[in-house]
Amino acid sequence: MTERDIISVGREAEAALGEVFSAIDETAGKVTAKVLDAFREERVSDSCFAGTAGYGYDDRGREVLDAVWSRVFGTGASLVRHNFVNGTHALSTALFGLLRPGDVMLSVSGKPYDTLDGVIGIGGGNGDGSLADFGVGYEEIPLENGKLNIPEILSRIKNEPRVKVVFVQRSKGYMNRRTLTAEEISGLYSAVHSVRNDVYLVTDNCYGEFCEEREPESDLLVGSLIKNPGGGIALTGGYITGTPRAVELASYRLTTVGTGGEVGATLGQNKNMFMGLFYAPHTVAQALKTAHFAAYVFEKLGYEVYPSWRERRSDIIQTVVTRDREKMIALCGGIQSASPVDSFVAPAPWAMPGYSDEVIMAAGCFVQGASVELSADGPLRDPYTVYIQGGLTYESGKYGILRAAGRVGVCGKDAKQ
Ligand SMILES: *Cc1c(COP(=O)(O)O)cnc(C)c1O
Repeated sequence: MTERDIISVGREAEAALGEVFSAIDETAGKVTAKVLDAFREERVSDSCFAGTAGYGYDDRGREVLDAVWSRVFGTGASLVRHNFVNGTHALSTALFGLLRPGDVMLSVSGKPYDTLDGVIGIGGGNGDGSLADFGVGYEEIPLENGKLNIPEILSRIKNEPRVKVVFVQRSKGYMNRRTLTAEEISGLYSAVHSVRNDVYLVTDNCYGEFCEEREPESDLLVGSLIKNPGGGIALTGGYITGTPRAVELASYRLTTVGTGGEVGATLGQNKNMFMGLFYAPHTVAQALKTAHFAAYVFEKLGYEVYPSWRERRSDIIQTVVTRDREKMIALCGGIQSASPVDSFVAPAPWAMPGYSDEVIMAAGCFVQGASVELSADGPLRDPYTVYIQGGLTYESGKYGILRAAGRVGVCGKDAKQ
């Protein structure tokens, strides 16, 4: 394919995507209004941006940020902290906060995200202090045709009193599966609590935030601030939000039993987190448009893509099945070459901590590893699926997709390196 062919596919994509883009803008408008209403109701002011040091007692910004977050997510309490090192840390904190020896964690969307294997101790205790080492059991119910198997889930929690946490992952992660919608997870929440109110629903909300007008109902929603809700501005961090008791228990794991969320110096990071939340609905819209654009372009070149360009989304991930190791590397190289940072390096597969297969990651980001910025990655295993996500601006996202398309060309033909 010539450069001109690729550009004309891009034009065709934009002509087709008009209505989809309007719908995305409408959601971003509604969520932005919700964010601004929360800022007003919680009286966000300049004093919230002052950092504390030491214990961080009476950090007004930290308290207001938690309150704003709860309003936006429709929850009762929140823990939004720069000192969650990533999403996995926030999820681990939530799980260790709720589960006790003898309890069972029941994952109902199949196997959780790869980096949780070690946290849970899947396949038995690892001696490193996993949940399994502390005598917490783990069970799993797969999705059925991409959907939650509600009858099986309810029967399991009725018959197994040791189930304390029902765990669900909204986004597909590194799997070829449907992303669950906020409505489906809210339905799960009602169903679970209709049979037992002594279990907690914990939702891995990574990559899902603000793709839809409403967030799922859950006892805990957990995510990373270098993905959607950090808006591309937060420098690091994560969040846990949900019902007050569940958030309190998680807070005792983050710090200590007794001090919980009342301490923790913010070191001047509050402003980035407030500003990130302010930008997030818009940033997510940019990423969603980039994803739809990618779906159109790669489908046109003959690749299998999930979801299709027409489909409304509940996360920002676009998968492209390359069926070829070299194409996968070439696609990631194209994305990298269009990045604002490190555009001159070629991403290569490597054995990354927490993942079982070699992984390739294209990410030329202002914030290291921030996948709300345009990035492409995936484990190098058959069928060599690339997960594309992010895009701080649609214009830069589109540019990256066109460059990547130029590198891989039509499906089944040789890639250009
Ligand atoms: C990103 C992600 C996580 C957490 O990963 P970190 O790299 O630790 O932030 C967990 N679950 C899903 C579905 C994710 O996409």
